[in-house]
Amino acid sequence: MEKCGIVYLVGAGPGDPGLITVKGRDCLRRADAVVYDYLANPMLLDEAPAAAERIFVGKSRGRHHRPQQEINQLLTELAGEGKTVVRLKGGDPYVFGRGGEEALHLRQAGVPFEVVPGVTAAFAAAAYAGIPLTHRDFTTSLGLVTGHENPEKKMSSLDWEKLASGVGTLVFYMGMANLSLIARELMAHGRPPATPVAIVRWATTPRQRTLVGTLADIVDQVQAQGFKPPAIIIVGEVVSLREHLAWFETRPLFGRRILSTRGAGQARELQRLLAAAGAEALSVPTIVTVAPADWGPVDREIARLPETDLLVLTSANAVAFFFARLQACGRDLRALAGVQLVAVGPKTAAAIAGHGITADLVPADYRAEGVVALLREHGVAGKRVLYPHAELAREVIPAELRALGADVADPVLYRTRLPAEGGEELRRLLEESRLDAVMFTASSTVENFVAMVGEDAPQRLRGVAVASIGPLTTATARRLGIEVQIEPGASTLEAMVAQMIEYFGKNPTSIDHD
Ligand code: SAH
Repeated sequence: MEKCGIVYLVGAGPGDPGLITVKGRDCLRRADAVVYDYLANPMLLDEAPAAAERIFVGKSRGRHHRPQQEINQLLTELAGEGKTVVRLKGGDPYVFGRGGEEALHLRQAGVPFEVVPGVTAAFAAAAYAGIPLTHRDFTTSLGLVTGHENPEKKMSSLDWEKLASGVGTLVFYMGMANLSLIARELMAHGRPPATPVAIVRWATTPRQRTLVGTLADIVDQVQAQGFKPPAIIIVGEVVSLREHLAWFETRPLFGRRILSTRGAGQARELQRLLAAAGAEALSVPTIVTVAPADWGPVDREIARLPETDLLVLTSANAVAFFFARLQACGRDLRALAGVQLVAVGPKTAAAIAGHGITADLVPADYRAEGVVALLREHGVAGKRVLYPHAELAREVIPAELRALGADVADPVLYRTRLPAEGGEELRRLLEESRLDAVMFTASSTVENFVAMVGEDAPQRLRGVAVASIGPLTTATARRLGIEVQIEPGASTLEAMVAQMIEYFGKNPTSIDHD
């Protein structure tokens, strides 16, 4: 081998992408190739460079996509090409993940490798289900056990006698198919039938479900509920602590699938707020922002900044486009030295602050009307006001400010367009009734949603809660035949999410999307 690469065996963690280690993420960011499994969250692949190869070798029980030997071979080959290879494995690579076999193979083949541990499913499931695996009052030892041994071996090769009596908390991986045997053997070897058992499915993800029973009744419960793998089985008195310590599944929007229709750049903040409340936050942008057909009018205004008194920006988009254009014109922040900045609300002000400038004026009412009221008080007669805006923006600001005697320049700064893709995904989400709520944060998002989904959008939205950020968006939705159930008092994302929490608190229809 002339130039040999390296293989990092990286633990991806149990599902929540936030549970990968900093070191594991760094490896992904440097990878030339990522070889990943069914249990590793595919969102983590976004961390790898766009040019990196992504190779799925996933195994789910009974559906082995690639024999282990082929995976081993693949790793050696990729490293042989001089590549930095990340072998991304669910949980921890050395806990029931065959990482040991892969490492031995690499050593034999003379391929350098390193191992980055991950949060293993037992620890993650316990933490997210509210079950401390050890607690001084209950147990001082912990066993991690496979519930699915090498098929050639008999299950009985586990020493049930010692497991049942010698270890406090027992956690079984891959045990669902053998659950009745596990429960039976533990009871037969002395564990009381009343011993609590928790089964945690898809731990740490929005699909997490937890079933609690006892050794005596857990099998019946699993059957009654149709509880399926992948799941972790936790056996021991510590399971009783869940009653007091559950937190993940008790968050107000837990298990709710909520769709953001905002532009790709704006969706993240909303998704963060939704996820913090426990929701599964999906995003299908119904808007893309593009440059104006002609930069001339904006550029001429940028040249006239020295004579301009006020710059009014009414969205984070406007802030991004304006500052980008300022730079493209060969100017920088000093061009704004004598200009007072008006932001329509705190989000726009924060976007301005991101460029190193503090907004001078922010109205109490975060709408065009609020900007006008504020500037009326401030006094704009004889002042030069620059209001670069989205094409098709409402006329309120320029018309009212001119009526107040201001000299208003209002060039088009950006346009919104219908995205080329996404319609099919929206229809699929609605068809499979996989959504609990859809959020509209501007009239254009509703209009485009209907354009993307089709004329029957209102019918397709039946059974889905519709949230609108304010009266204008709601009016557009109603005009298009869409009923709005959720509208906050204040037009902010925070208020919208708070209203959503209240709505689902009052309408707690049980949801199971599987
Ligand atoms: N190396 C992995 C385990 C792989 S074995 C780790 O350290 O976690 C696969 C088994 O892990 C599954 O059958 C299931 O028992 C468990 N498992 C993995 N991820 C899980 C999850 N998110 N929720 C519940 N169980 C999970």
